[in-house]
Amino acid sequence: MLTLTSYTCGAFQAGKGDLVPLLNPATEEVVAQASCGGVDLAATLRFAREQGGPALRALTFAQRGELLGKLAAVIADQRDALIETSVANGGTTRGGGKFDIDGAAGTLQAYAELGKKLGDARELADGETVMIGRGAKLAGRHLWSAREGVAVFINAFNFPAWGFAEKAATALLAGMPVINKPATATAWTAAKLCELLVAANVLPAGAFQQLLGGVTPLLEALGPQDVVAFTGSSGTGTTVRSLPALLKHGVRVNVEADSLNAAVVGGGVEPGSSAWQTLLRDVVREMTEKSGQKCTATRRVIVPEALVAPLLEELSDRLGAVRVGNPANREVEVGPLATRQQRDDVHAGCARMRKHAEVAFGVERPEKLIDVPAGKGFFCGPMVFVARGETAVAEAHRDEIFGPVTTVVPYSGAAADAIALVRRGGGMLVTTVFSDEREWGAQVAKGIAPWVGRVCLVDSKSEGITLPAGMVLPDLIHGGPGRAGGGEELGGIRGVQHYLARTAFEGPRALVERLLG
Ligand code: NAP
Repeated sequence: MLTLTSYTCGAFQAGKGDLVPLLNPATEEVVAQASCGGVDLAATLRFAREQGGPALRALTFAQRGELLGKLAAVIADQRDALIETSVANGGTTRGGGKFDIDGAAGTLQAYAELGKKLGDARELADGETVMIGRGAKLAGRHLWSAREGVAVFINAFNFPAWGFAEKAATALLAGMPVINKPATATAWTAAKLCELLVAANVLPAGAFQQLLGGVTPLLEALGPQDVVAFTGSSGTGTTVRSLPALLKHGVRVNVEADSLNAAVVGGGVEPGSSAWQTLLRDVVREMTEKSGQKCTATRRVIVPEALVAPLLEELSDRLGAVRVGNPANREVEVGPLATRQQRDDVHAGCARMRKHAEVAFGVERPEKLIDVPAGKGFFCGPMVFVARGETAVAEAHRDEIFGPVTTVVPYSGAAADAIALVRRGGGMLVTTVFSDEREWGAQVAKGIAPWVGRVCLVDSKSEGITLPAGMVLPDLIHGGPGRAGGGEELGGIRGVQHYLARTAFEGPRALVERLLG
């Protein structure tokens, strides 16, 4: 049996005590086991703070960027090996695995380029020097400098590579050492990635460590200069951000959680138009890629009543052709959900929806599953619900169903009604506005902005230009208010600032300029 190891204090360590089995979710075979029982968490923290931090802070942004570029190259070079574990342990298709691995390499590379642009500095100015008061002598200036603690990452099961890389790229560029804790169920890819990065010997000692298994005692030992970046369900996010030790020491916590993302259609979009085709492409892709287990997947399609019938007809045609089964078979387009618990949660969500909403397409366990042993595997087929009437609409907004499931929500077509429905999501990572009328599109996009981290704009002239909403981009922020956790990652320099401390300096202008440059 393969026992996955944590990497701490410069060595790989197998956990002791109860080892957690990791499964192939298509066959339910055990593929590995992991635990971080027995790992010295206090020594892990010390190693990061005392060795990794000072070594990184001694480097300039350009030098840290160079390190990120080398990490990106390692991942790109070992892409196939990483995709293999993603298929075997994550239940992803090769396409789903690539999305994670390429996303990781691309994000690290984007921040490598940002580091190069920031150049030889170790701190960043925030705005210009400002004059204070009436006289011309007292001045103030803001400066970002590296925090002196450690950045702890807690990641969700669905992006073992990219989820780590988006956090590591920004923290390492800021000059903070990182400790990564991947979700245990899909930790094989994260463990392989860790082995590859360590073998490449790119980072200074203590800059990167990884723990497999529970990390609550580590969180309880964090202090004022540390940062926690969490991605996962809002329930766990609430537990983490409420830990007394984190509250007591004012530890900075960023939470990326659930999201009822939407595609909102109106403003004269006609069936058959280019915007309509993009809508179909995006909804099907976001439902099927990684079996809908993407934080950015489209959970609601808000569409004028008159367009519901043609939409359902075309969606059913496309989803009916999708092959579900064991992703080890390259013909398969939708694999299983990642864990038994995931499958049970998604099926329970569908059962709740069935009570109040119409099933327009799909079943929880498709009869035909390609290359799956009888009765095995944590599957859910692509499903589309239609929510008409307040009870059904309320149910559609209760919980995120984290699988290949979406709900069509019919409405009047009026911009104000579209905005009101989008807002019922309670805070989203992403929403796409499909409109062929400029005013309608502008009104809806601006009306939903305070509720959404990223708004994608599509019209019939944007063919060949737009990306599906699930594509998270290093230059744009990823995160969202409310239910989505209230956090923010990436967004170019904005993501780096999360790991920097901002200080205001005030004094005679000449002194401020002499000391701060
Ligand atoms: P989860 O069950 O909340 O677990 C997330 C992480 O938290 C895992 O590493 C888990 O470790 C850890 N964890 C569990 N209990 C903990 C505790 N008491 N203290 C500290 N850490 C703890 O979420 P998941 O099932 O992996 O991921 C699915 C969810 O993530 C979905 O709701 C999805 O929307 C969300 N997600 C959001 C984003 C985003 O960017 N907003 C991205 C991806 C996913 P173990 O695995 O060892 O239990």
